[in-house]
Amino acid sequence: MISTTKQLIEFVEKNYQIEIASIKELAGYIDKNYKIETASDDLFILKLSSSDPVFFLESQNEVLAHLSVTSSLFPKLFNSKTGKTILRYQDYFLRIVSYLEGTFLDDIEAINDSLVQDFASNLASLDVSLTELEIPKLSHIQMDWDIAHTLAQKKFIQAIPQNDIRRVIHYFILQFQFIVTPILSTLRKSIIHNDANPMNVLTANNRVTGFIDFGDMTFTATVFEPAIAITYLMMDQEHPLDIACVFLNKYHSILNLTEDEISILYYLIAARLCTSQIMAARSKIQHPENTYTSKDELRGQVLLKQLLQINPIQAENRFREACGFSPLKNQDKTELLGQRNTHISEGQSISYDDPISMQRSALQYMYDDSGNTYIDCVNNIMHVGHCHPSVVEAGQKQLARMNTNTRYLYASLNEYANRLLEKLPPTLDKIFFVNSGSAASDLAIRLARTFTQRDQFIIIDQGYHGNTQLGIDVSSYKFDSKGGEGSKSFVHKIAMPDSYRDPRTGEQYAQEVDQITHAHIIAGFIGESILSCGGQLVLPEGYLQSIYQKVRTVGGLCIADEVQVGFGRVGSHFWGFELQNIVPDIVIMGKPIGNGHPLAAVATTTEIANAFNNGMEFFSSFGGNPVSCEIGLAVLGVIEDEQLQDNAFKMGQYILNQWHRLKDKYECIGDIRGVGLFLGIEFVRSRSTKEPDDALAHEIVQKMKERYFLMSTDGPYHNVIKFKPPMIFSKDEADLLYSNLDEVIFLLTKN
Ligand code: PMP
Repeated sequence: MISTTKQLIEFVEKNYQIEIASIKELAGYIDKNYKIETASDDLFILKLSSSDPVFFLESQNEVLAHLSVTSSLFPKLFNSKTGKTILRYQDYFLRIVSYLEGTFLDDIEAINDSLVQDFASNLASLDVSLTELEIPKLSHIQMDWDIAHTLAQKKFIQAIPQNDIRRVIHYFILQFQFIVTPILSTLRKSIIHNDANPMNVLTANNRVTGFIDFGDMTFTATVFEPAIAITYLMMDQEHPLDIACVFLNKYHSILNLTEDEISILYYLIAARLCTSQIMAARSKIQHPENTYTSKDELRGQVLLKQLLQINPIQAENRFREACGFSPLKNQDKTELLGQRNTHISEGQSISYDDPISMQRSALQYMYDDSGNTYIDCVNNIMHVGHCHPSVVEAGQKQLARMNTNTRYLYASLNEYANRLLEKLPPTLDKIFFVNSGSAASDLAIRLARTFTQRDQFIIIDQGYHGNTQLGIDVSSYKFDSKGGEGSKSFVHKIAMPDSYRDPRTGEQYAQEVDQITHAHIIAGFIGESILSCGGQLVLPEGYLQSIYQKVRTVGGLCIADEVQVGFGRVGSHFWGFELQNIVPDIVIMGKPIGNGHPLAAVATTTEIANAFNNGMEFFSSFGGNPVSCEIGLAVLGVIEDEQLQDNAFKMGQYILNQWHRLKDKYECIGDIRGVGLFLGIEFVRSRSTKEPDDALAHEIVQKMKERYFLMSTDGPYHNVIKFKPPMIFSKDEADLLYSNLDEVIFLLTKN
């Protein structure tokens, strides 16, 4: 090592007009950098570059020379005795530049606005100056760090080990693809520094004194420059948009940004973070001993999560405001509602007294048109998260390739059927694909009727199975409520097993089945595995076991409706019915199965499926089409890859524990119940009378909305707040939810 340095000193002293007094190696990413002190007390940086083509180093020198004409903020090139700026030294290219004094921006504890503005104005001036410079050869350099090449990083996404971070990165790369890529070629271009991060910016006395390291410079979209600078400034900030706006305001005053450039800034910031995370993760795999690239990793991960919490509309409006543009215009909500009611029946209700105009969504968040971000605590359809990138991509790819129906052969149908059936007990070995839970329950009832050649059904009070005529006929939640016409003669209702109000055992509840089967010849029983419309009621032990046994004794079939609770939501098991230790004859699947894509399925036995194949063709135009199959496969893939069932199990326990603390604190909470990420809180006026407090439950949901949590009520008395969020719900959201619920309940009940 010493001899290496000695050789280097000899080389420098031979070739340059320099007498070295001391030499010290500095930390570097790819290049080797040395700080040199000369005998005459001058300071230089000696750079040894290995990988760059020489024309790239020449281009860097050209840029430095150009910038140094008008500014002292840049390292000056030092010529060799023969007047060269680059010399060959062993396998390296050697350059010597002046040493810039100052403290790195990165080392400044609290950066104040005036320093941010000075940084912005100097960077903007640098960029203005570079717009005058043309180096055609630069376009031959493919720079991984160029934001324009963000999509190229996608293939390395598996290098990110953490599920939550990988998911967010994948999400932002996909957004980049759809929001930035289409306008990329229209953006103005220039040479930019391309790495104005605080490790490359020097300061003294609250002013910027230098920019170093032009090793990433490239010819690309000019707006990437402020985007990168902002990315690093936003790290470790409680309100990252504030510092970004201080910067932008100043930058824009010197280099005017266009509205198009501003419209993509949020996604450019995210893209820079994604690239940096992926590069760091790849580098760790390649060089486990090298920790240098991971210095900013954690801060970047925190910022990625913060960004996801910022509604992109809010970000754009803040950026627009900082640059003197007026905010984006929304359609007036009253107008939107009026138009809706002109064409859409008001029988389709809207949530909240003051409805929300939703514009976008991302994983556990939803974004409205006013810039607010909501945490979704209730949409179990978005099982693996809103706009989950794996699901979106799967659908898009297949939509662009082919969509057809089950009258043709295609492998994805077989693969998907097989994957789903693998999740089910082995006796369930045939599957039908349809497009909604309603179509699935309708078909399930037809299957049971055809097989048994009977038509009578046993149902549970307050159950819901669908919106078709048959669906409504077996849904007491509908036919027993407002506008309902009561029970049809083929339907026989048993009591809802509400262990909170009526603590009979499962077997005791099931005895009602005997009375029905004595009087009627039944085709079967249909019931949810946890009662959702009934108010998130977990079935008492032995309940379905007892019912199934009684129904089967008289030749009936048992249908499990898993539309709400299937696909790992209960945590301990993949299906809700497994909690009851039974195997249904028919299983209905819906909602979460397609993560929002209209897909549903019915699984049954070969025997039942064969009986249904009686000459009448079964055809669903859309059921099991290639796009649906790809989406269904992607959903199953994400549940497994991201271990979401396990997350539901752990988060469910965590949240239940928190909520039991709320119950200890507030008399108005009568019951806390549920499993996994399917939970409920029942509100009562008095714990002794258990009189339902629907008004309070409603008020809590409204107040939680004002705090940006989406929740809703259910149960026969509308006094149960139901909780069934996307399965990616994390401790961070749970803690926020808990503290906000605590405050809201306190405020609403303190008198
Ligand atoms: N079964 C259950 C248990 C449901 O909750 C629902 C929908 N809420 C359905 C069936 C009907 O599903 P869809 O709305 O997809 O037709």
